Amino acid sequence: MAGLGADFWQTEITYLKGVGPKRAELLAAELGISTFADLREHLPFRYVDRSRLTRLGELAAQSGATRESELPPITVIGTLSQLRLVPAARGRGPGRLSATLSDGTGTLDLVWFDGVRWLSQQLRAGDAVIVYGRPAWYNGRLQLAHPELERLRDDAPDEALPSAEPTGSAHHLKIIPYYRSTEALRRVGLDARGLRKLTWQLLQQAPSPLVPELLPPALIAAEQLMPRGEALRAVHYPESAEALARAQHRLKFDELLLFQLVLARRRAHRRSDRRAVPFDRVGERFNAFYKEHLPFELTDAQKRVVKEIRADLARAEPMNRLVQGDVGSGKTMVATLTALIALDSGCQVALMAPTEILAEQHHRTLTRQLGPLSIEVGLLTGSTKAAARTRTLEALRMGLLPVVVGTHALLEPPVQFARLGLTIIDEQHKFGVVQRSTLWAKASSHTPGTYPHNLALTATPIPRTLALTAYGEVDVSVIDALPPGRRPIRTVLRTEAQRLRILGFLDEQIAAGRQAYVVYPLVEESAKSDLLAAETGAEFLRGYFKDRARVGLIHGRLKADAKEAQMAAFARGQTQVLVATTVIEVGVDVPNATVMLIENPERFGLSQLHQLRGRVGRGAEQSYCILLAPDRLSADSRKRLGALVETNDGFRIAEVDLELRGPGDFLGTRQSGLPEFRVADIVHDSALVEHTRRLAQRLVADDPDLTYPEHAALRRGLEAYARQHRLELLVA
Ligand code: ADP
Ligand code: MG
Repeated sequence: MAGLGADFWQTEITYLKGVGPKRAELLAAELGISTFADLREHLPFRYVDRSRLTRLGELAAQSGATRESELPPITVIGTLSQLRLVPAARGRGPGRLSATLSDGTGTLDLVWFDGVRWLSQQLRAGDAVIVYGRPAWYNGRLQLAHPELERLRDDAPDEALPSAEPTGSAHHLKIIPYYRSTEALRRVGLDARGLRKLTWQLLQQAPSPLVPELLPPALIAAEQLMPRGEALRAVHYPESAEALARAQHRLKFDELLLFQLVLARRRAHRRSDRRAVPFDRVGERFNAFYKEHLPFELTDAQKRVVKEIRADLARAEPMNRLVQGDVGSGKTMVATLTALIALDSGCQVALMAPTEILAEQHHRTLTRQLGPLSIEVGLLTGSTKAAARTRTLEALRMGLLPVVVGTHALLEPPVQFARLGLTIIDEQHKFGVVQRSTLWAKASSHTPGTYPHNLALTATPIPRTLALTAYGEVDVSVIDALPPGRRPIRTVLRTEAQRLRILGFLDEQIAAGRQAYVVYPLVEESAKSDLLAAETGAEFLRGYFKDRARVGLIHGRLKADAKEAQMAAFARGQTQVLVATTVIEVGVDVPNATVMLIENPERFGLSQLHQLRGRVGRGAEQSYCILLAPDRLSADSRKRLGALVETNDGFRIAEVDLELRGPGDFLGTRQSGLPEFRVADIVHDSALVEHTRRLAQRLVADDPDLTYPEHAALRRGLEAYARQHRLELLVA
């Protein structure tokens, strides 16, 4: 039986009626569909519930009463008229395309700004279309900007839609699936409707259940899940909205559970397999520092996190802990205290930071803090002079240097340790997976099989669900409070017209003894002109401030010692204004700076802006972040900048960022290690992420290799899943 099913699904797609060699070739090239199984897995990305089509008359009546700006998305069937291609002002670009949609009960304005030339060639007045989008009030009229639009075959809209299916049986379809297609496929008739014909045909012929069950019956019952095969059928052609919701839930459940199982197994494996030196005594230098040299009282959040770290370190397995704390929450002190614990056990400590500026700052801070305890701190970056470098390497290898701070330079093979017991990675989101583990692996050269404890710090707070998903193998601590006395930074969005007023404000702040950053965007592709903008900006400010302020300039092209000199001059208050590109983005700590002026903020990512803003608000004075934006902003930019103005909460900002960019972009693909989720959405399905994570851990604790007979299908499913997503099943 199962064998028969498997053969069926391996059948080539050309065996479907209506798929000749040409279409088959395009399906493979465009969507990767070459077998029945591939088509079965090509899930709809959207549905139209015919019982929930919007009537324009009702829409106007309902939303007209409130005039709320944010309206829910709608799907409307209607006819196009009054198509107009309006050229852009000053003859630049294609301009916009507008049209009117009528459905017999009312009308709605449609407008597009992108790809309008192509679109205007596709559409004719009188076309019957189905339109999907989010309406908004504009100049007193309801309009739909950039709606998704599908042309219906016939002119009579209500008749046209059901003809989507060849058998005519779709007349009774209440919910119509939409399949992703491409331009090339549409040209051969495989638009959403054409693909619908294929999936409909396939599911008519397919054996039942479509796929074997994955989970043991007890679990299905306990979780009240729809059977897997049934769910897969129902996501293609759901009988009701409720059935669709249950089917989607089931597929999400499976997808998340499989991924969490991969993580849970890796974690169990790592725990059982890897040794570390336990740091279990209360050390004297830790105590001396804590009692006599602590420059301030720790916040409760800092105390709690240090306690969590101490508990980890006391174990003979390597700590792998990520400390998340908003910018300015005091992560460096947590790193210092952790280092002291390792030092008291006679181990060496390596601290890695993503930029030279930050490495140098940490070197200064640690030297200041640990110097009184006679603990020497070395520095190793790309621009460490040869002689010093040789000395440092030798001292590390001999075990004479207890602490080293550095950049990626620490990863190079000549860097060897006598007894590396702790690695600390600051701003760890700036590093890739490989870089992080390279440092970590350094310890095994002197004591094979033993690994250092690892502490990672990040000021890009990762929303909890994403952390649980991406960093499922890591323990997470959160510093959720700022040191006392901090006043929330005031953030404002301004435009060019207000530049003079802003300069006047800088003048006031400087007269009051404060300092300011002025930051210009820098992107690789336009590095030259960006650099010029920063240089010109600095020149302008020098002219503007005359002798009222000294203006420094720092950017990535400067030599390391020039950079350090600029940074040090600003830190000592010798310059009052520091013009910078994003090299100051992470970590830099000058508490007297109270103004962060960001030029062209729309060109920065949201988390990046939050990081930049975090350079101020580090002292007791009121601080300000001024976003100086051009007059015209895209809706996306407005949303991003708006979020920044609205809240100082890094977690909230990270959530908005994650929503806008999606998990891959948010984490940076090279380091995310995340598979692509086809049905689950780890931002919105957070409860299910947590639930499946707990379930996976319980399953693995109970049956680590899934050898129980009732787990046989799950084990096979897991192996297939790991193969498909190229995930290592056992080893981290
Ligand atoms: P981040 O978490 O962004 O790395 P830092 O470690 O640079 O933050 O700390 C920001 C500033 O707050 C530093 O000047 C630091 O000395 C100070 N700081 C840290 N912890 C405390 C505390 N508990 N009380 C007062 N100031 C603190
Ligand atoms: Mg920091």
